[in-house]
Order: sequence, then C-alpha cells, then structure tokens
Amino acid sequence: MSALVLGHKNPDTDSIIAAISAANLYKARGIDAVAAAQGTPAPETAFVLERFGLKAPEVVNSVAGKNVYLVDFSDLDQAPDDFKDAELKGIIDHHKLGDVTSDSPLECWIQPVGCANTVVKFLYDYYDVKVPADIAGGMLCAILSDTLLFKSPTCTEFDKKSAADLAKIAGIKDINALGMEMFKAKSNLNASPRDLIFRDFKDFDMNGHKIGIGQLELISVDMVTPELKKALAEELAKVQAEGREDAIFVLTDIMKEGSEFMVAGQSKDKVLKALGASTEGEFIKGVMSRKKQVVPPLQQAFKD
Ligand code: MG
Ligand code: MG
Ligand code: MG
Repeated sequence: MSALVLGHKNPDTDSIIAAISAANLYKARGIDAVAAAQGTPAPETAFVLERFGLKAPEVVNSVAGKNVYLVDFSDLDQAPDDFKDAELKGIIDHHKLGDVTSDSPLECWIQPVGCANTVVKFLYDYYDVKVPADIAGGMLCAILSDTLLFKSPTCTEFDKKSAADLAKIAGIKDINALGMEMFKAKSNLNASPRDLIFRDFKDFDMNGHKIGIGQLELISVDMVTPELKKALAEELAKVQAEGREDAIFVLTDIMKEGSEFMVAGQSKDKVLKALGASTEGEFIKGVMSRKKQVVPPLQQAFKD
C-alpha cells in the first residue's frame, strides 16, 4: 500500500505541488509514496499544473489505516477528520509547529522559510536526487505563490536561491513574467462568495477559540466591487455561524503590498485591534502574510 503525501485542507499551490515534488523524492529514495490532496486545484494551481504538464494529485478525504507524510502543515484542524487512525511517517513544512503527533519516530523537516517547496528543494539536494524539469517548474511557482514574488516578509534568501536553481532546471528565463501570469490566473473572481472565502481558508484553535481565516490574494483589491464585498460579508457571517467564534477574511493586494480585513463574530473589535486596523476595510500597508502577520497577533490576543 502506497503511503500518501498529503497537503492541507483547501489546498493551495504549495501544498499540491509539495505533495507531487515530495512524493517523487520519496519514490527516488525507494519509498512507495503517492501524491494526494484534500480537494481539487484552485485557479492558480490549475494554471501551474497545466503550464508544466503536471497531473493533479488524487483527492483524498479519509486516511484511516494509511501511512501518511504531511506537506505544508502539521495542524490537526487542517488534516482529514480520521487522521488519528493514520500512521504519521513524516512532515515537510514551513509553518508554526502544529498539534499532530506520531506513534513511531518520523522524518520531520520544518524550517522557517517562505515555502514548503523550498524545504523540498533542500531535501532533493540533501539526498542528491535531480529535480525533474516539470516538477522544478511547479516548485518554482509554489515559491513565487507563497512568497508573493519574493515580497512577503516570510521570504528568505534561501527561497530566492532555491527559486533561481529551479528556474534554471525548468528553463524559465523570466521569473517575474511567470509570476505575473500566475497571479492573473489567481485573481479570478468568477466564483461564488463561498468558494472565494474557502479558496484559501484555514481553521485554527487559538487557546480554545475556534478562529477561521480565509485569504484572497489579488493583483488589485479594487477588483472586489462594493456588491461583491456585501455578498462576501453575508457569506462570511454564515461561515462564522458554522461553529466558529470568529471568521476573518483577508483581502491582500499583491501589487500595493498590503491587506484589508473583513470580520464576522463576537470578537470583531479585538480581532481588528490585534491586526492594527480601526475599521473593516481599512488598508493596512505591509501586511501580506497570514502565517507571519495575522495568525501570531491573533494567537496573542486570544491568549486569555
Ligand atoms: Mg499552504
Ligand atoms: Mg506553504
Ligand atoms: Mg498562502
């Protein structure tokens, strides 16, 4: 039985490509592994898969009895519901340490870099395995996506160096042009308000407080019309009512390098204050990263 290499719920480009790139590396090392995803590719990821001729991973929502390697997460809230009945074999990630645990020793590679695929690239080098050109193209896009073209505060020199190496392998001359093509695909608003909120959505348990945070990264936040904003606010209230204390939606402007927030729930004022905003819709310059600039201040605010 092949082990599953699995990214987080509501998969983004990094989690889908890391499943593909890590599964290929495990196979090269003689480990029987197959890429999996907890959902189908969002528009940006579909663009990347198509651009480099990669196949979308098999969709898996149940892992009971399976051997599992996690990529791009280690939080139980972002794992399949029956994860406790799976055998955790390894983690490749770049987020805060989550709450999964294992029964046996495991491979664990977690680094504070901008992208899980940067860690995967390090592992290809470590195990002296060549990255195939098509996978290298996907990995490059994952780094561009997670670091917002190297502009996110999560981006490190190591991400830039890995991206340059991967571009060479994939035969990409103009990294910026590829990034812009990808962000255009990502900025597709042709979806229901619910799908837009859940396109890149994560649930967190912050000291017993259930907080859901969605993020939409756009070439311009002005693409979101007042009508769409109203529809998003109505949907966000429903998302909050589905068992969350608060639901937060972060609208990030990739070009202007900042974000505005929408909040539904009882702790709205506390959330906005923690994020440095006095009202919903206030543009906060410089805030681009959920993991580094949104989650930590909220964890702090929900400490008690
Ligand atoms: Mg991710
Ligand atoms: Mg990532
Ligand atoms: Mg992201």
